[in-house]
Amino acid sequence: MTLWKLYDRERNMHDDSDFFAGVFDDEKNELREELVGSTRWGGGPCIEMTPMSQMPEDIRASYHIALRARWQQHIECAETMRITHPTRPEGQRVVLVKDAHNRPRETVECQKCSGSGHWTNPKNARDVRKCFACDGTGRQTKAAKGKMVKIPSGTKGTCTRAFERQSQYGTWSYGTQCTIRLDDGSEIRASLDSLRLDEEPRLDYVAEQAATRAANGDAYSVMHPGATLALFGR
Ligand SMILES: [Zn+2]
Repeated sequence: MTLWKLYDRERNMHDDSDFFAGVFDDEKNELREELVGSTRWGGGPCIEMTPMSQMPEDIRASYHIALRARWQQHIECAETMRITHPTRPEGQRVVLVKDAHNRPRETVECQKCSGSGHWTNPKNARDVRKCFACDGTGRQTKAAKGKMVKIPSGTKGTCTRAFERQSQYGTWSYGTQCTIRLDDGSEIRASLDSLRLDEEPRLDYVAEQAATRAANGDAYSVMHPGATLALFGR
């Protein structure tokens, strides 16, 4: 077994620092970090490592495969999170993964435009615009009396609005609430936690991204992918 040294890293803490080396273990075909020193104690482990520059072609090939597999794992996870835990669902197709419970609502004619869906400028009759209150639909929904209505898991629609519900003084968050327009034009509300995007992970995109990133050969960022993954889907 040879440990091929890929990079050095210092973890700089308040009082002490730890030093790590990123290595490729050619027996386990594994990328990992080894602690190589610290200011916490005297002395340190002595780990035998060989510089990357001496890596022969065949090992370089398996190193590349390991790098690619690791990227694939990270990006696939980020892509799945993009769908199962959306952060900005507005304008996207969504599907409920849990039942939602809504106060009953009834659809009434829009009071602003009397159901026409248009707004006409009182000073200029030729200036006709889409009604702002009902978004041109001529209808509005409002709370009605009655029992809570269950909207079953699996219901699909388009998220039109997402907003955070806060306590009176804004010190407490009750999570994000979404308004979803169903295909029949009606609107429901559901918490962001109870929905996901109505699409499948883009696996070919994931594979392509993993291959590109592995080709760049940046071992440090595959071991510390936070910043890179933040770019995906958020
Ligand atoms: Zn209107």
